[in-house]
Amino acid sequence: MIFKKKKITIAYTMEKCQKCKMQRKRKFSEGDVLFSESSKCSSCDGVCMIESIFGESFEQ
Ligand SMILES: [Zn+2]
Repeated sequence: MIFKKKKITIAYTMEKCQKCKMQRKRKFSEGDVLFSESSKCSSCDGVCMIESIFGESFEQ
């Protein structure tokens, strides 16, 4: 039996609240731009900014 390893890369977006500094990692979605305001913070009324976009590789 031939065993093939397949690598897949998933992109993630790291958001950081400008008020409480809470960081949240979520899957990258179309339209995410680095250092742009993305969403409202879930624990305060601050605005989250995209801090970094990175990819993680997984073996399937
Ligand atoms: Zn916050």
